[in-house]
Amino acid sequence: MIESLFAKQRQFFQSGKTLPIPFRIEALKQLKRSIKYHEEMLLEAMKADFNKGEPEAYLTEIGYVYNDINFTIKNLKEWAETERVKTPPTHIGSTSRIHKEPFGVTLIIAPWNYPFNLTVSPLIGALGAGNTAILKPSEHTPHVSRVISHIMALAFPEKHVASVEGGVETNQELLDLPFNYIFYTGSSHVGKIVMEKASQHLTPVTLELGGKSPAIVTRHADIKLAAKRIVWGKFLNAGQTCVAPDFVYVDSKVKERLVTHMKYYTRKFYEKDFNEGRYMSIVNRNHFDRIKELMQGDIVYGGRSLSNTLAIEPTIIDNADFDHPAMQEEIFGPILPVLEFNSLDKAVLDVRDLPDPLAFYIFTDKKTEAKHVVRAVPFGAGAINDTVFHLANPHLPFGGRGNSGMGNYHGKYSFDTFTHKKSVLDQTTCFDFPFRYPSSKLFSKFI
Ligand code: NAD
Repeated sequence: MIESLFAKQRQFFQSGKTLPIPFRIEALKQLKRSIKYHEEMLLEAMKADFNKGEPEAYLTEIGYVYNDINFTIKNLKEWAETERVKTPPTHIGSTSRIHKEPFGVTLIIAPWNYPFNLTVSPLIGALGAGNTAILKPSEHTPHVSRVISHIMALAFPEKHVASVEGGVETNQELLDLPFNYIFYTGSSHVGKIVMEKASQHLTPVTLELGGKSPAIVTRHADIKLAAKRIVWGKFLNAGQTCVAPDFVYVDSKVKERLVTHMKYYTRKFYEKDFNEGRYMSIVNRNHFDRIKELMQGDIVYGGRSLSNTLAIEPTIIDNADFDHPAMQEEIFGPILPVLEFNSLDKAVLDVRDLPDPLAFYIFTDKKTEAKHVVRAVPFGAGAINDTVFHLANPHLPFGGRGNSGMGNYHGKYSFDTFTHKKSVLDQTTCFDFPFRYPSSKLFSKFI
């Protein structure tokens, strides 16, 4: 079934139907209409999969996707235009252009943590660039995956876009096919499998992976604001966010104040929700058990968990160090270890010793300090005096480096990711310089 779906998409792509810009724009509008039609169902599915409440679901998933579609529709014509570039004097008489060409049949594999956004946002780039797409949403959020299938089936014939539900075996079956592009979001471990499989067909890939994203707080930071923005970014989506601050690394001079304010804001933002069963759950029992194991040491806020609903309370662990269990892997849950440093230079060296993170955050009101640290630490993308928010700016490319991935997307970068840049030199036939040919005297002088 998957092979025949692939063959249908290949044939449709080769028919050239996806190429005209009006067709692509209509496809994006159709996608938006279908999402609107299924909005209620989608919200219910998110609630069913991991108790994700409506305001958060709208902010981080549905609303985000609408903005992305609107932005792409608005700019697509300009992005897709053939670019004329300079030609050196050695090529006199010719002109040079870059044509924007879709890759063909693309595969988008998504994780469960933002199950709708991370499936549909790459699709917007793929469609805008004129590709066909097979989507593989996560098996760990089955209700959302089901609704995604309905949305796609209403908006598109399967020869254009189709969503395939299933687990690891389905992924493996898909990865055996000679796709023209693979866009994968998920763990670094599976990212390596995807890249290995893609290499069988020399298929280009984008890998959007994870890692431990630090939040450094210096003695020059606005401590209250830092505390507020860190706990918001951390405990959003119950900590199951690829760019959540994984741990806090704070100057010992201001640590106590920071922890006091983090406790205050965590209580203010989440205590009532947790007590009344509205705080988001962990996606499944395996992750729930794994995260609970990390709740050790000096717990200064939280620490409760509910086995029946799989909810874990936002938890702050003070006085942690690099040997703490929570510092051995990406936490991906609502646990926030706090480590302290005495020298910012040493802190930078410590962070540089870790695998390149997907995100990095520095809190300081001293511009020179922020500039220095941002330059010194390799990371995918990040923010000064904020967390997470950078990914909502469509003008910024979003992606990792090293262990946290390769390639990027969002806004025009999504279009570029799914577009091959085809360079063409258009040579004149009005004249022809003889010296480039082997028989010319000038040529023989040089060889
Ligand atoms: P995962 O890698 O386990 O799963 C992602 C997808 O890969 C799923 O569709 C799954 O079916 C598939 N998969 C799982 N095992 C496979 C195998 N052996 N062969 C082929 N396919 C397989 O990731 P996850 O647990 O769903 O997501 C969590 C991870 O994703 C975290 O590390 C997080 O940081 C990362 N993430 C990154 C981004 C980003 O934008 N960079 C966004 C969200 C999540």
